[in-house]
Amino acid sequence: MAKVGFIGLGNMGGPMAGNLVDAGHEVIGFDMAPGAIEAATERGVEVVGSAAEAVAVAAVVFTMLPAGTHVRQVYLGEDGILAAAPKGTVFIDSSTIDVATARAVHEAASALGHDMLDAPVSGGVAGAEAGSLTMMVGGTAKAFSRGTPYLEVVGGKVVHAGQAGNGQVAKVCNNMILGISMLAVSEAFTMGEKLGLDPQTLFEISSTSSGSCWAMLNHNPVPGVVEGSAASRDYAPGFAAGMMLKDLKLSQEAAALSNAATPLGAEATALYTLFVNAGNAAKDYSAIVKMIRGESG
Ligand code: NAD
Repeated sequence: MAKVGFIGLGNMGGPMAGNLVDAGHEVIGFDMAPGAIEAATERGVEVVGSAAEAVAVAAVVFTMLPAGTHVRQVYLGEDGILAAAPKGTVFIDSSTIDVATARAVHEAASALGHDMLDAPVSGGVAGAEAGSLTMMVGGTAKAFSRGTPYLEVVGGKVVHAGQAGNGQVAKVCNNMILGISMLAVSEAFTMGEKLGLDPQTLFEISSTSSGSCWAMLNHNPVPGVVEGSAASRDYAPGFAAGMMLKDLKLSQEAAALSNAATPLGAEATALYTLFVNAGNAAKDYSAIVKMIRGESG
């Protein structure tokens, strides 16, 4: 069993760190939010006073931070963890961040003799608690093989997506599909209703026809159509619209970086910006159906 550093013990990082403790690892964590520190301590994480201290004796280090600016600061800033860790440490950044920052941190890690993986996740807080996250992983084959035993503790499915940054590429591609398809489902179900078609009937037909998609089947935006959906509990998240907007913005940064044309991704980003700016950041992202119906603004 290994000493594992864990920086960022929030809604996702806290339970992930707890699962590493349950698997028998000695987890040394750092966060500055009192609530996160308390919850992680209760899960058996030894919380120390700085990120540098948390990585000083670790063989493996996870980070689960809000955004690219936090990742740059924690890895590369004053008292950064790359400089503080023993040479040859395996770093696993599971934050959802921009591809350019992910690749810059990989480069810096490699220059200092470390192995690095970007390993963003899908599955939300429930997946983090259950240890069933889908992990999309970028980095060298060597780094992937060294990180896999730890990734398999926090994730139910671990996929090597290729070179440095490709985990983040997979994440933004996936979530751009989700944002666009939620809008398509919302438009179609709204139009059907306006033309007198019962949403449950449309679901019965479309769910086994060519228009079927994951957003329709699992996060259907019409209340009552799918049992257990956010729509069926007044759009309590689930996956908050503010987080969908964050990921869509990252998809547009990635599109600019690669000169890829993503007109539907751009439109989805604009529509979610309108929705979030109207005070809906904390609602489930499927609540955008209300804006499509003209019910909120
Ligand atoms: P969160 O805000 O609950 O947790 C982030 C934690 O990082 C906080 O506790 C914060 O205090 C800590 N932090 C910030 N700066 C720090 C620093 N310099 N040093 C140490 N700790 C610091 O966020 P979360 O929901 O856990 O999300 C984390 C990441 O996972 C984000 O990138 C998010 O996009 C991604 N993600 C979240 C979900 C979800 O459902 N919550 C799903 C998939 C991916």
